[in-house]
Amino acid sequence: MAIPQETILDIKYKNDIESVIAPYVDLKRRGKNLVGLCPFHNEKTPSFTVYPENGSFYCFGCGAGGDVFTFTKLINNLDYIEAVKLLAEKSGVMIEENSYDSSLTKQKQVILEINREAAKFFHSYLMSEQGKWGLNYLTGRGLSIATIKHFGLGAAPDDWSMLCNYLRRKGFKDEDMVLANVASKSQKGTYYDRFRNRIMFPLIDLRGNVIAFSGRRRPNDTESAKYVNTSDTLVYKKSLNLFGMNFAKNHCEERVILVEGNMDAVSLHQAGFTNAIALFGTALTTEQVKLLSRYTKEVVLALDSDAAGQKAVLRSLETAKNSGLNMKILSIPDGKDPDEFVLKNGAAKFNQLLESAVGEMDYRLLIAAEKIDLNDDESRIKYLKEATQTLAESDDTISVDFYAGKLSAKYGVSKETILNSINENRKNRKKKEQKKEFSDIISPKFSRNDPNPQKRENMRSCSAEEKIISILLKHPNYINSVTEKLPSEKFSTDLTKLIYDRIIQCNNQHFDVDFSVLGDGFSPTEMGYLVTLQNSIGTSENVTALINDCIRVISEEADKKSQSNFKDMSVEDWAQMLKELADKKNKGE
Ligand SMILES: [Zn+2]
Repeated sequence: MAIPQETILDIKYKNDIESVIAPYVDLKRRGKNLVGLCPFHNEKTPSFTVYPENGSFYCFGCGAGGDVFTFTKLINNLDYIEAVKLLAEKSGVMIEENSYDSSLTKQKQVILEINREAAKFFHSYLMSEQGKWGLNYLTGRGLSIATIKHFGLGAAPDDWSMLCNYLRRKGFKDEDMVLANVASKSQKGTYYDRFRNRIMFPLIDLRGNVIAFSGRRRPNDTESAKYVNTSDTLVYKKSLNLFGMNFAKNHCEERVILVEGNMDAVSLHQAGFTNAIALFGTALTTEQVKLLSRYTKEVVLALDSDAAGQKAVLRSLETAKNSGLNMKILSIPDGKDPDEFVLKNGAAKFNQLLESAVGEMDYRLLIAAEKIDLNDDESRIKYLKEATQTLAESDDTISVDFYAGKLSAKYGVSKETILNSINENRKNRKKKEQKKEFSDIISPKFSRNDPNPQKRENMRSCSAEEKIISILLKHPNYINSVTEKLPSEKFSTDLTKLIYDRIIQCNNQHFDVDFSVLGDGFSPTEMGYLVTLQNSIGTSENVTALINDCIRVISEEADKKSQSNFKDMSVEDWAQMLKELADKKNKGE
């Protein structure tokens, strides 16, 4: 790490943890701490705790923890240096450009440059004589040249090496092209273009970088895969981005229209719906939901209306649950794509259609009704049962009451009976949820690694080491006296030893001992471990006595260990050791 430690601390003090976390987690005060639902694993009761006192957080559910940098890193999927830079920008702290040097940051830069050049290449090919087929296809689907330019659409030639050669001429290395995922390496060790004979859609992130491509096969090509997309790279994570978000982000405060295909999004933009975005080849993910909830209040799902589309809608609704986003579902008549509909019927009609988008409850009731014959008594009863089950899943009492009234009027069953049935269903659901949450605690989704597996074999010593670390983090004035008596070789686990060494190092360089300075390179679970250590010591304890006690325990255990090592020694080793001891004595050591 090459950013000076004073700068790290400066940035940390200017970004208090509460305000860094608040946009992502609803925090409630509990004593001097704050709690909320963990953004890193699914939970219904808050176990995510923020300690404003020392600028840390820890989740008792999944074990993730750390400081403002760890949080920023995890929530935005950045590396450590990027997280530091982002918080520095926010708080107006200057970092000298040449004072850090991260090879990862450089690598990302190269990939972004390759992507930008590739996008230029695809676009000029589309506009060239040879790319005419691509341009004809796009204009044939109603796109204007202005729209094509606005989105930077392009075409990949039917050739194995045109892009690679172009990039080589620009000075890029073959290996870097593979890292950017625009080229592949054959078994023979040669490099070739990954996108061939395709219409190219560049994915641009919120900062304006080209981070990925989606290539659609040519219309007359029925054999190749319909889409080839960039796989995850250093600059692109599939689950994190949405196509068109770079344009939509300034037009979507009230509402976003979420469509399946890139082509749909492009068409809608051209028709004036600049709040349209596309999934770019994935189902809606929790990360995307988080991104959306930062920019908009309402998401209108305009996915395909076939069976697969219906499933995608239900899955998306499930993913967006508890996000605070108002989810609506649009069904387009005759099973058309948004793209086809707008082309045929115009923007005004699509606007009308948008206003007819239904809420989640309506949608669920509608598709339940679709499956059965409502003229048949038995079917109607079955439908009512299904409908009450659906309603029982909602915690919104007003809308449940509203729908119960609707069902009652329509099917001639008293509202009271319907509400009773809903309550019954709800009780069962709550029971199931409690069970599920319990099993989530046992096996949470965020892989809860044991931060220090070596502790199990070294319980007594490690507990004392942890205590020493806690004390030193809280009372750095004891560091000198402790290190005099306790060399780190006596520590029983690699992790406690590493932390202890870093504390000493920090102290020797006359820096404040702060776990943010120690933390670079630790995993989130290891940071969580550090946070629990930092927070585990009370203020009222007799520190000196405690320190002496811990040093005694650690030394005892270290001695025991070296003795037991003797027991396992071979005769030759014994002889060797005795000889060394004798040598030392003779030298007067
Ligand atoms: Zn958690």
